[in-house]
Amino acid sequence: MADLRDLLKVDPGTLRLADIDPRATPGLPSKRTVGKDPKLWSAEAVADISTELGSYQEKLFASAKEGATNRRVVLLLQAMDCGGKDGTVRNVTAGMSPAGLKAVGFGPPTKEELSHNFLWRIRRALPPSGYVGIFNRSQYEDVLVVRVHNLVPDKVWSKRYDEINAFEAKESSDGLTIVKVMLHISHEEQKKRLLARLDDPTKTWKYNPGDLAERARWTDYQQAYEDALNKCSTEATPWYVVPADRKWYRKWYRKWYRNWAVANLLHQAFGDLNPQYPPPDFDVAAERAELSKAA
Ligand code: ADP
Repeated sequence: MADLRDLLKVDPGTLRLADIDPRATPGLPSKRTVGKDPKLWSAEAVADISTELGSYQEKLFASAKEGATNRRVVLLLQAMDCGGKDGTVRNVTAGMSPAGLKAVGFGPPTKEELSHNFLWRIRRALPPSGYVGIFNRSQYEDVLVVRVHNLVPDKVWSKRYDEINAFEAKESSDGLTIVKVMLHISHEEQKKRLLARLDDPTKTWKYNPGDLAERARWTDYQQAYEDALNKCSTEATPWYVVPADRKWYRKWYRKWYRNWAVANLLHQAFGDLNPQYPPPDFDVAAERAELSKAA
């Protein structure tokens, strides 16, 4: 199967979001290849991948024990409202231990956060060595919502792309693997999902009347996303755009291309990292003999 990273990676300076179909399913194998309906296959694949992610996570944790390495992994998700960040996190982390996960959501900065550089709260939220971090929104909000709403002058936000690149380069040379994913939905799909929130009492809590004002700025947001991804997709920390409109829904199942794609991207990043259980730093045979004698 083709490396999904090659299909979804942003080539710096060349991304045009309008050219990426949010309903596309790049890399999803055909029925002929997998011998069954690819929708069903993808859900089984997500379950298998998430079990393997759990095993990778444990090895990462074990290998970093007692400060042996500073390896850490962050899955960073950005999307327009209703893009599916929460559902993706639920599915992709299903096989992982909550004890080794550090999930953080970034909302409007607090007064204290605003008194520091915008990266201050991001640095504090980075996972410790051996942990997997989930960023639900991120440092990129400071060149997205902040730019669209002119929360700081142009000359301040426009310098932030370089600051973000320098920050990510430094952290990645210090053991951090960052998998940056934009879940790409269409304007129409967002409307459907917002309406679904109003129609379903179990989802109404997710609706915020402010979402409509944000939706009205759709074009500005798409432009801000395009610039951020074009300027901050680097060799060490590339951006991936995952088409995220596509779900297959039946009474008895819901399947999402995006879950499969994001799980895969994280799995491939872990594959490169290839964490291993550390060898024991004590004499196993002696311990076994001692334990066998003990009461
Ligand atoms: P989500 O929509 O991700 O489920 P929330 O409903 O808590 O979570 O929304 C978070 C809100 O915080 C979003 O509207 C986002 O634009 C805003 N936000 C995040 N970071 C910043 C920032 N640096 N400055 C201003 N607003 C921000």
